[in-house]
Amino acid sequence: HKATKPPPTPSPLRNSKFFQSNMRILVTGGAGFIGSHLVDRLMENEKNEVIVADNYFTGSKDNLRKWIGHPRFELIRHVFAWEDNHILYNFADVTEPLLVEVDQIYHLACPASPIFYKHNPVKTIKTNVIGTLNMLGLAKRVGARILLTSTSEVYGDPLVHPQPESYWGNVNPIGVRSCYDEGKRVAETLMFDYHRQHGIEIRIARIFNTYGPRMNIDDGRVVSNFIAQALRDEPLTVQAPGTQTRSFCYVSDMVDGLIRLMEGENTGPINIGNPGEFTMIELAETVKELINPEIEIKMVENTPDDPRQRKPDITNANKLLGWEPKIKLRDGLPLMEADFRLRLGVAKKQSQL
Ligand code: NAD
Ligand code: UDP
Ligand code: UDP
Repeated sequence: HKATKPPPTPSPLRNSKFFQSNMRILVTGGAGFIGSHLVDRLMENEKNEVIVADNYFTGSKDNLRKWIGHPRFELIRHVFAWEDNHILYNFADVTEPLLVEVDQIYHLACPASPIFYKHNPVKTIKTNVIGTLNMLGLAKRVGARILLTSTSEVYGDPLVHPQPESYWGNVNPIGVRSCYDEGKRVAETLMFDYHRQHGIEIRIARIFNTYGPRMNIDDGRVVSNFIAQALRDEPLTVQAPGTQTRSFCYVSDMVDGLIRLMEGENTGPINIGNPGEFTMIELAETVKELINPEIEIKMVENTPDDPRQRKPDITNANKLLGWEPKIKLRDGLPLMEADFRLRLGVAKKQSQL
């Protein structure tokens, strides 16, 4: 294909009038769960132009339906043309070089659910390493600020609880999760190396488990599983031992934290998550109580390397970004339930009205 090496100097377009009045923002992974909510929030500001690059592996154009055709919104596609100008791809993959002129990059592209990131682990690590390298090369060429959505998985199966950003983690480098957690660790390293070596403005968010409307219904994550199971009258599958803990952040709180981090002065890494900690048995019982009291809770086998506990220390997010989550689990679950009912076509039963 004809993708050429980009020029090394900042684009002259950056000094044009257009750039002085508008903020051009690239969101990689913008068709996904968190990305599409971020796009919604960014589009609310009339000074923002939003460009999404996504390969639709786990995301969907449906999540961006309301913006397609909007004059301040663009979905980019990589066009690799042969001699006869045939178009090969109609999606954008961050593992390929990307040439756009932007002021900010929110780099989210990466499957987040274990069943998807384990499906093609080599692709997952390419997305994390080559994808982040490309977005940093882009940021360097155009002088953009770049935010990486890293993950609490960089702490592995943590030996420190709750996890502060200063904790270096306890990660298996050769396990089935490594393409994701080690991939994100390298992505963080690349961010800091470009920052130190090339002066790129970087921001790193370490995201803890996030939930809300538009999560993939069958992506295997615990909150989406439990809600879908409760609505389908199937048993809630608690993976053994069920005493492992997680902390769940509602997606609007997450988006608020990401924007504050991008707009603020701190590079991070900064934990963004909800410190309310629940065992998976407690989560199942809460879903049962709120959504379907008749449902059974069943213990099933777990997967390897499952972290036993996880809870963010959000002192830094609080102090440096003035951020704290507002939506409690009990308030967020019904909002997600409403979205899942619509998508699954399951109305409330007479007894639940
Ligand atoms: P998601 O799977 O819904 O979204 C990821 C998006 O990236 C999808 O639209 C997918 O199609 C796209 N994508 C994947 N590989 C790509 C590639 N090579 N090129 C272009 N696009 C690609 O997941 P999400 O929950 O919205 O997660 C978004 C980001 O937040 C990810 O970087 C993830 O690692 C991080 N994160 C999420 C959570 C969480 O609980 N949801 C927790 C920690 C970190
Ligand atoms: N890159 C990109 N878009 C750009 C500029 C660079 O995708 O606008 C990619 C480029 O293809 C390279 C990577 O980013 O693979 C790193 O770029 P950098 O200039 O830092 O390194 P170099 O090209 O010198 O290896
Ligand atoms: N889990 C569960 N039942 C499910 C799916 C997951 O009990 O149907 C557990 C899983 O073992 C883990 C926790 O829920 O301890 C969170 O898993 P998830 O895949 O949602 O996120 P992550 O492991 O990345 O935190």
